[in-house]
Amino acid sequence: TEKNKHAIVIVGYGGMGSYHAKLIKDNEFLEVTGTYDILEERRKVSLQEGYPAYESYEQVLNDEAVDVVLIATPNDVHKELALEAFKAGKHVICEKPVTLNVSDFKEMVAAADAAGRVLMVHQNRRWDEDFLTIKQMYNEKTIGDLFRIESRVHGANGIPGDWRHLEAHGGGMLLDWGVHLLDQILHMVDSRMTSLSSRLSFILGDEVDDGFESVIQFENGVSVLLEVGTTNFITLPRWYVKGTEGTGVIEDWSLNGRIVTRNQDAVKVEPKPIQAGVGLTKTMAPPSEEATITGALPEPYRQSSSFFDNFAAVIEGQAEPIVKNEEVLRVLNLIEAVFESARTGKTLTDFDIYPA
Ligand code: NAD
Repeated sequence: TEKNKHAIVIVGYGGMGSYHAKLIKDNEFLEVTGTYDILEERRKVSLQEGYPAYESYEQVLNDEAVDVVLIATPNDVHKELALEAFKAGKHVICEKPVTLNVSDFKEMVAAADAAGRVLMVHQNRRWDEDFLTIKQMYNEKTIGDLFRIESRVHGANGIPGDWRHLEAHGGGMLLDWGVHLLDQILHMVDSRMTSLSSRLSFILGDEVDDGFESVIQFENGVSVLLEVGTTNFITLPRWYVKGTEGTGVIEDWSLNGRIVTRNQDAVKVEPKPIQAGVGLTKTMAPPSEEATITGALPEPYRQSSSFFDNFAAVIEGQAEPIVKNEEVLRVLNLIEAVFESARTGKTLTDFDIYPA
């Protein structure tokens, strides 16, 4: 290990595990000193990419030079791996969803606390610029008070890979993408939820959901629509938001989009009816050119530091985690509520959503 760097071993060297190695490569405070994967094939890839491959998890845990275990395995084994890591005195970075349910997560947090070690969940999409742009608009009222937020991710490739199709591994899109979208919303909207209604989709015939829809109403008047789809050959924008003064859209992760606001200076003119289908409408006629102003999206907020810089500061006792375990717990509670609403076909109220 380079001097003063914390040694990280990546456990689960698949798609995300190897991406983590790239993310940490030039980090000032952290260094990937090895990996462990149950598959021989992935251990070979690790060696080829320059990272020593441990032969067993036990070996990782017994290695005193290892400070941090980064868990990037399928979702169902996160908990067991983390519990063992804490027992061995390691800090843990865990991929999302941290566990499949609330009670498992509470066990993990208790184990971290008992060991006096840090558990931080990789909710990396809090750093996404599209999200940070919407958060900026929400806080700064760029288009007035946002009262409607639609957040969607649409793909056409179905559920990817192997374990994501299986319930036992914590598969399905609610646990996969849903956990990001819910985390973003709760990170932005600081208000009590008053109702929740959700549906899962099973278009592809998997035993787990290939997408879902949720409508969440907040006490402060904000209503949110979340949608994840994997059978969308035509996609809707990543974000569509309405404020008291205008509308905003972000098409994609490259931040293509715009805001359209009411022109306060324009003389108000009654809209002229237009032909619409076989009828006439004034209501749905587009506003005159003078009536609105089209502008660019605001510059997104920046997070104060990267996920990994923040983690390094947290284990040194020098910073609060940006991703807090109380927040992760709230999201897991909400995920359980989404499953419940979908299963029963009922709209849940705040009494159902919040645990007693
Ligand atoms: P993957 O299937 O590509 O990789 C998982 C790897 O874990 C495989 O190589 C597998 O052999 C290995 N593995 C399984 N059980 C193991 C065990 N007990 N010990 C050690 N290794 C084991 O899956 P993936 O797409 O890389 O997803 C892994 C995790 O990362 C999941 O929790 C997923 O939700 C998360 N993920 C997060 C993001 C993000 O942006 N935050 C993106 C993709 C995946």
